[in-house]
Amino acid sequence: MKAGTAVARAAPPRVGGPKSDGLKGSTPRPSTPGPQRISAPTNGNPVREGPAVASTHFIRSRIGKICVAITGANPADMMHNAEEIVRENHFVEFRLDYLPNPLAIIPKLKQFLYERGEITAIATCRRAATGGKFKGTIPAELEILEKAAQAGCHLIDIELQTAEHTKPAQMKKLRSFGAALIISHHDYEATKNLDAVFDRILPFQPEFVKIVSTAKTLADTVTMMRFLDRRRDEANIIGISMGEQGTISRVLGLRAGSVFTFAAAHAGEETGPGQIEARTLRETWRIDHIDASTKVYGVAGNPVRHSLSPLMHNIAFRRETVNGIFLPLQTTRLNDLLTLTREVPLHGLAITMPFKTDIIRHLAKTDVLSEKIGACNTVVRAQDGKLYGFNTDVAAVVRPLERRLPLRGAKVLVLGAGGAGRAAVFGLVEKGAEVFIWNRTAETAKKLARQAKAKTIRREQIVKSNFDVIINTTPVGMRGVKPASLLEPKELNTRLVFDLVYNPIDTPLIRMAREKGLPVITGVEMFVHQGARQFEIWTGKPAPEEEMLRVVIHALRQESAKERTS
Ligand code: NAP
Repeated sequence: MKAGTAVARAAPPRVGGPKSDGLKGSTPRPSTPGPQRISAPTNGNPVREGPAVASTHFIRSRIGKICVAITGANPADMMHNAEEIVRENHFVEFRLDYLPNPLAIIPKLKQFLYERGEITAIATCRRAATGGKFKGTIPAELEILEKAAQAGCHLIDIELQTAEHTKPAQMKKLRSFGAALIISHHDYEATKNLDAVFDRILPFQPEFVKIVSTAKTLADTVTMMRFLDRRRDEANIIGISMGEQGTISRVLGLRAGSVFTFAAAHAGEETGPGQIEARTLRETWRIDHIDASTKVYGVAGNPVRHSLSPLMHNIAFRRETVNGIFLPLQTTRLNDLLTLTREVPLHGLAITMPFKTDIIRHLAKTDVLSEKIGACNTVVRAQDGKLYGFNTDVAAVVRPLERRLPLRGAKVLVLGAGGAGRAAVFGLVEKGAEVFIWNRTAETAKKLARQAKAKTIRREQIVKSNFDVIINTTPVGMRGVKPASLLEPKELNTRLVFDLVYNPIDTPLIRMAREKGLPVITGVEMFVHQGARQFEIWTGKPAPEEEMLRVVIHALRQESAKERTS
């Protein structure tokens, strides 16, 4: 379609999917250069020149599931970012409020949208009072949005509070420039009163309703998804819960009824807490493939922010064409996790700190190992709908060792007596090893030794002893955990060192062992091994273990490189 040409319908715009395809507008479109305005099919209605609000159906047919937020410190920077982002994403949001003088970008924006007819653009200039960065007044915000609409932005986003403080005549003027209207509401504190907010937005008859809350729990995302499901037929809704606990709403919200979701252009350029990088959403989480039959899995615990399980399992799902999505489920409360597991429902869980023990009493049954150890790291929902628990940590400690030395009669020192320590001790004793436990809290070590038929060792005895294997099962050595190492070089009197910590790959303990010329097993080998067994339990397919190892090592190396350069 030529610039300035649009198809208009007589009916006023209305909220809602099938109900809301009314077009409006009367002010003439700008002449060239102008944008290639979205136009709706005519359906026999008279065609005339002039601005028109595009049919929401038609906008929806162009936009896909991800809108990428574009920021920038100045117009040149923002347009440079836009040029890069639109290579992979045709639906973008210009966050004009990030610019010191948003009006300065308008000519460039107009040219850009004119030349790039495949792009669909939202203009947003959120004021600081409603959570944005724009320091100006409401009239100033409206002026910028009007200019953005004239420049060819297909949608303009204004906050509900702004709309409520704007005179009907001003709103009418804003809408006369032909862009579809999003009325949005952001709650930076909680997920509450979603229906009440929705009912406040409805009278403005926007083409899209955007409601963004803050999730303090995983259950808050269930509240958001239930809301979307309840009201999806009344409007084109975008519903998202911000924050770490809300991450899953950015993916599963689409299935519940959100028209699209927002993504960050790159890590570090998020415009909302918990926003995910567009490429991750598309390539790793495969958001475009999620449908009603996609099974949902996740890693649950605190913290899971830096867990590589989502990357590893999503790549494995893709590789083996499993219709599944694996999400980080950050929570401090087991009940919260159980609510989400029931409501979504979740089909599998990788359980991490601090739930490995407490989860057991909520499962229909666990395997013998989990029961004996009192820790379960894998939950699967079976065909009967019930949850069953397994422990894949044990095999992931034992098998890498078995590949290197006979365990029967081997003298092994285990540092730590937590969940992973228990898995190591029980697994090794069962294989006939002579196991010595040292733990910061001596009482815990004694208890575990009694239960597993192992021995304890005092710290000062370590330097005087010889072992076949020393295994670290404490978080010491993890990025950011102090001290960096539990042992000194003179205490490494062993033939082999195994550090369960996998981030970084080369922990201080691993480096110390290498410096002494000792062979090592890194936590990555265990991590991939336990994950591969989880994959098999969940899917019944052999795990693509090499691919899983490759992506995990790649991600860890990237992280280390980033750390070195920062
Ligand atoms: P956990 O149940 O919380 O146990 C932590 C253990 O480490 C406890 O024995 C604790 O001693 C000890 N500990 C904690 N901080 C310490 C410190 N500063 N100095 C000395 N000892 C300390 O945790 P977990 O689930 O067993 O996990 C422990 C580590 O293993 C984590 O780093 C985790 O990433 C790693 N892990 C790796 C894999 C893998 O696949 N590679 C799998 C599982 C676990 P107290 O009893 O005195 O508190």
